[in-house]
Amino acid sequence: MAYQTINPYTNEVVKEYPEATDQQLEDALQKSHELYHTFKKQDIKERAKLLHQVADKIRERSDELARTCTTEMGKLLTESKGEVELCAIIADWFADHAEEMLAPKEIETGANGIAEVHYQATGVIMMVEPWNFPYYQMMRVFAPNFMAGNTMVLKHASNTPSSAQLMADVILEAGAPEGSLTNLFLNYDQVSKAIADPRVQGVALTGSERGGSTVAKVAGENLKKTTLELGGMDPFIVLDDANMEDVVDIAWRSRLYNNGQECTSSKRFIVMEDVYDEFVEQLKHNFSKVKPGDPLDPDTTLAPMNTKKAKEKLQDQVNEAIEAGAKVVYGNEPVDLPGQFFMPTILTNIDRDNPAHTTEMFGPVAVVYKVKTEEEAIELANDSSYGLGGIVFASDSEHGAEVAAKIETGMVFVNNIRYSLPELPFGGVKRSGFGREMSSIGQKAFVNEKLIVKA
Ligand code: NAP
Repeated sequence: MAYQTINPYTNEVVKEYPEATDQQLEDALQKSHELYHTFKKQDIKERAKLLHQVADKIRERSDELARTCTTEMGKLLTESKGEVELCAIIADWFADHAEEMLAPKEIETGANGIAEVHYQATGVIMMVEPWNFPYYQMMRVFAPNFMAGNTMVLKHASNTPSSAQLMADVILEAGAPEGSLTNLFLNYDQVSKAIADPRVQGVALTGSERGGSTVAKVAGENLKKTTLELGGMDPFIVLDDANMEDVVDIAWRSRLYNNGQECTSSKRFIVMEDVYDEFVEQLKHNFSKVKPGDPLDPDTTLAPMNTKKAKEKLQDQVNEAIEAGAKVVYGNEPVDLPGQFFMPTILTNIDRDNPAHTTEMFGPVAVVYKVKTEEEAIELANDSSYGLGGIVFASDSEHGAEVAAKIETGMVFVNNIRYSLPELPFGGVKRSGFGREMSSIGQKAFVNEKLIVKA
């Protein structure tokens, strides 16, 4: 069965879900389409009220949501709780700010009349979402589109069906109308069919390059607007005048949060030679402190990876990196537990023809480079087909921001850990995708920015 909840700590198959039928897809599309025609005319204040109710309901059911996520994809319970709360924050923020963001904007045209841009709903949006933040990723699309008056059909990852269904149920229980979000256990052909359907007006996908390019191809063939939030190999640059206490504290968390299974995890540490040895020693020290165990146990600090397949893929990638000359300075040893554990690992001596230099490793593996100059650090950071995020540590934030401006990614944080808030645009360039989610940009991703000129 394609959609399964398998606990990656116990390896137990918890639940299986049958794939949706074509008739279920047709019914969902029709219901969403019909709702769109009334939903878009509703006073936006009514939708804001409903979205606040969604936030309240998420908080009310937070324990169940967090446990379901941890049991299904393995992340630490504290992290699941943080993700659930962030979803409530996102829902509240869009409920509070969408009216202003979607209010018509006047454009001065002199004697030619009064021009205005109006922001109008467009129809049914197809969402394709990944397992790594099963609630947060869908909320980034759901909240702004709900406020705009669009309706949504969701295809979630095949290994997080319980989380997907639970969040969809919570949203409806909170009072959102049926058809505003329908979760379906679709296969890839059905996703393509939905994208091609004239009732669907856009596609938002978060996931891998492979998934993104396949879905975007279908969307392109059918002239449907698309946003793609894809992978990343975010650089973490340490200049030689950086505050090393902050650097070492943030570096390990930035790699190991969500067990390294995050698009914006720091994956490439680029460190100037004067502070390189200290950095590697401290990273080793911090990696060695993690305690693997049951992710539901508050004492556990290293969770299992999300699936057996993901762990095996990461092990293959590390083996290939070593074969190509990488040096293991920490980790890459088995964890004596039955779950899908991967020991935090540090690799150095990565040449530019090493696959570890070019391929995203979606797990707790840090690649560390030594550089002589700031210019070399920037050049190395930009030597990637990805362009999602990044972190720069420098003595002063102004200089850090100058370096940040030269990094070819969609987001850079200076002297700080990366974070996500609804008011901040999220997205990348190059093969990390296109478009932005969250903020006023994400609010307008799937609206008709319509010009009306009055004489
Ligand atoms: P994935 O394989 O592309 O899966 C993501 C979603 O796309 C799943 O629902 C998957 O369904 C679906 N999918 C994949 N191929 C499809 C196709 N041909 N047609 C229809 N649906 C398709 O991604 P993943 O490897 O699980 O996720 C990790 C990747 O996501 C990493 O590269 C990570 O960096 C990236 N990511 C990016 C962001 C961001 O905001 N930029 C955030 C999180 C993760 P199935 O599960 O059924 O295959």
